[in-house]
Amino acid sequence: MRDDNCIFCKIANGDIPSDTIYEDEEFRVILDLSPASKGHALILPKTHAANLFELDDEICAKVLILAKKIGKAMQTALCCDGINIVQNNGEAAGQTVMHFHVHIIPRYNGEKQIVAWEPKQSIPEEQREIVEKIKTALI
Ligand code: AMP
Ligand code: ZN
Repeated sequence: MRDDNCIFCKIANGDIPSDTIYEDEEFRVILDLSPASKGHALILPKTHAANLFELDDEICAKVLILAKKIGKAMQTALCCDGINIVQNNGEAAGQTVMHFHVHIIPRYNGEKQIVAWEPKQSIPEEQREIVEKIKTALI
């Protein structure tokens, strides 16, 4: 299903022009309008899902295979030295467009790391508590 108020639905279905590098029945892959690096692309499913947790399982299973295909083509075409695959869910995680998408970001030696965090000290007791909570939620 499409959401008429969603810009990525419009781009994915061709209602708004984009720099498309790949298209099939279920996906469009475009260049990001404000790229983090040269070649930064976005995989957009053509059906609307706000985030990973709303995404159809079949689309979900196909998306990483497509990310691999696009990443390989980038290695050949752009001679990048690495690739970040990034997928944000929710405002707290930095998601700004509420239509599921996967960032494929070619990386070049010497550029600043952009997917990074400050490692913190783990607390064994807290870790055990987290393990138990998540294991319970998985049942
Ligand atoms: P996120 O922060 O994970 O939601 O990423 C949204 C991404 O979409 C950002 O990298 C934006 O630069 C990109 N973006 C937003 N609008 C457009 C657009 N019209 N065409 C291409 N990329 C876009
Ligand atoms: Zn949408």
